[in-house]
Amino acid sequence: MNQNLSLLIELQKLDLEIDRDEKERKRALAEADRYSKEIEELEKDLREKEAQLKKTKREKRIKEGKIEEIDLLLAKHEEEKYKVKSQDEFAALEKEIAMANDQKEKTENLLLELMEKEEELTNSIPLLREKTERGRKDREIKRKKLATYLDNFTRAREKSEGERKNLTLSLDPVFLEQFEQLKKTRDGLAVIPTKDGACGGCHVKLSSSLMGGVRKGQGVVHCENCNRILYYASNNK
Ligand SMILES: [Zn+2]
Repeated sequence: MNQNLSLLIELQKLDLEIDRDEKERKRALAEADRYSKEIEELEKDLREKEAQLKKTKREKRIKEGKIEEIDLLLAKHEEEKYKVKSQDEFAALEKEIAMANDQKEKTENLLLELMEKEEELTNSIPLLREKTERGRKDREIKRKKLATYLDNFTRAREKSEGERKNLTLSLDPVFLEQFEQLKKTRDGLAVIPTKDGACGGCHVKLSSSLMGGVRKGQGVVHCENCNRILYYASNNK
């Protein structure tokens, strides 16, 4: 086979490998990023719930204090009942007692809601904390694995780039230029084997003279339709 043609085949194989590895690298990075975000969400959720619990406890104490105040007021009103001198005064006092009781009931209902919320948070936080902790550890393991993978990737990439450079140095620059152009427009496949007398890329039947040229493998032959560089693979007709 023509020297340039076999170099081009090798170069394409190498480029496809480089592309495939690069896709895999991006995929691994994206996956690590996704996982990291998941854990960050858990951490955020945990922080929010812990803050809610703190707030709920504080509000609870305020309501409890308020109920104590109302109780004191009610006790004071009870004593005042013995000191009132008129029916009107008594009625006004009764009205105040009713208002205080009403406020107490409302405050007690709010306190109950806060207690329920506190219980719910007290129960859910340890589970969430455990899940977050597990996630953090898992993320660390994944990070280390990714770092090793990226190290290996960098070494492999340097090796491939070195090989690529050697190949391109041996190639006729005209063919290299054609190859690079075709690669861009032909989905990375600039060099293609013929198949059953047709171009393996666009599947258009090749003329017998063109096919003869491909079979001989002495020069670089292009498909008349898609312009790809053709070669003859021995397992094809
Ligand atoms: Zn073609």
